[in-house]
Amino acid sequence: MENYSFVDILVNNFCSFERGQIVKNNSERWKKRFDSSVKQFSDVSYVKKKIEYSRNKCLYNIENQIFNFEKKFIDNTNRKMFFAQTDKDVYDIISRIIKEENISNVVFSKSNLLDEISLNSYLKKKQLNVTKTNIGDFILELEHGKPSHIVTSTYHKNLEEISSLYNKEFGTDENITAQDVIDIASKKIKENIKGADALVSGANFLVSETGSIVFIEDEGDINRAMSMVKTHIIIAGMEKIISNLKELNYLLPVVSTFATGQNLASYITIITKNPKRIIGENQKIFLILVNKGRTDLLQSAVSRNILKCIRCGACANVCPIYKNLGGNVYNCVYPGPLGLILATNIESSKEYKDLPYACTLCGKCKDICPAGIDLTTLIIQARKDVIEKDIHSLNDQELIMLLYKKTLKRKRMNGFHYGFKQWRFEKVISKQWGNKRVVPKFSRKTFSEKYIDLHKGEENLI
Ligand code: SF4
Repeated sequence: MENYSFVDILVNNFCSFERGQIVKNNSERWKKRFDSSVKQFSDVSYVKKKIEYSRNKCLYNIENQIFNFEKKFIDNTNRKMFFAQTDKDVYDIISRIIKEENISNVVFSKSNLLDEISLNSYLKKKQLNVTKTNIGDFILELEHGKPSHIVTSTYHKNLEEISSLYNKEFGTDENITAQDVIDIASKKIKENIKGADALVSGANFLVSETGSIVFIEDEGDINRAMSMVKTHIIIAGMEKIISNLKELNYLLPVVSTFATGQNLASYITIITKNPKRIIGENQKIFLILVNKGRTDLLQSAVSRNILKCIRCGACANVCPIYKNLGGNVYNCVYPGPLGLILATNIESSKEYKDLPYACTLCGKCKDICPAGIDLTTLIIQARKDVIEKDIHSLNDQELIMLLYKKTLKRKRMNGFHYGFKQWRFEKVISKQWGNKRVVPKFSRKTFSEKYIDLHKGEENLI
């Protein structure tokens, strides 16, 4: 579905209601775990305000925060930091590292940013052997599928589907258990990590005060790979900066609760200067800090708020559109409400012009967001941006203006025979209307005619 827009996918019926049902079931399971885990906070609204405040404070001073981080992070031998403005910058930096460090086998951890810059495909094109360390991504690789959620890649899949994938790929029984799925994947992932020269991962937070990098995960793949490879390349968006280690006191339980409904994630790894106790003395760490449109977002008082996001994915879990259609329909790296904003800003492409409209403006995402982001306002802003950037096709605009003019005066609306209106409507709209909905029928009589018929014989009928 590479080049299809949200509307194309809906109209061509590429999404299925069965898939929506799986996503709905997974959202309900998440909700149960979330409801129980959120009780660990005596006042969750206070915690949300704290996060919002600290994220705002950090973003307003982001240049200094990054500068401080860099001073603490780098040393003269094994740690280097780079800045990348675009995907191409990242590719160039990585190519240099690969050459200098003589890397040919790479393991990839789950990271939305790595997907955002399509690094996997780039490295494969360079003939590198690339494998995934995350179980969800490992499963999707078997069918060349795409993640449908920013936290749980296989949110759109059930056990039966995964069993049959395993059956085709590894010849396992059709009815394997969830534990079998995990065991088989873990075994293969461990083998891949053993043979890898480098780990490429994202990061959850970069701590300005100490130059530390924080990784939050459930399967321990980053932790395991980090202790085995000789080169670790970390690629992080610049908004991942936080001011100090103290903030982790509430950020860590909040990310875990809102992302997976756990009080605390199973693995939390923090690497700070002199990481010899965790990793080998000769291991090299390269950090690439990515801008890719983030400083543009910072310039707008409204749009900058999206950079407060801590990537928990809760907004998708509660979104009625996401829950009914699943994440692959969005056809972008960040499905759900977050994606409606990021796709038109960071990924910025005409393919995403319909995305800001994939929203009922119900406000559920805004209510749940632990970073206090007013996603509803941002989605409305994204709609304005789409029009201002003229991403909408001329035909759409002309059609809207035509319909608008026609409805300004009742005389004009009533001026055509109902059959003609029906024919025009079906001709112009039915494609966008989609084959899941019935095109409405125009009434034979106008409202005024019906009103007069209904009240015939009554006095003072206007
Ligand atoms: S926008 Fe809020 S709810 Fe959505 S992923 Fe980011 S922090 Fe989580």
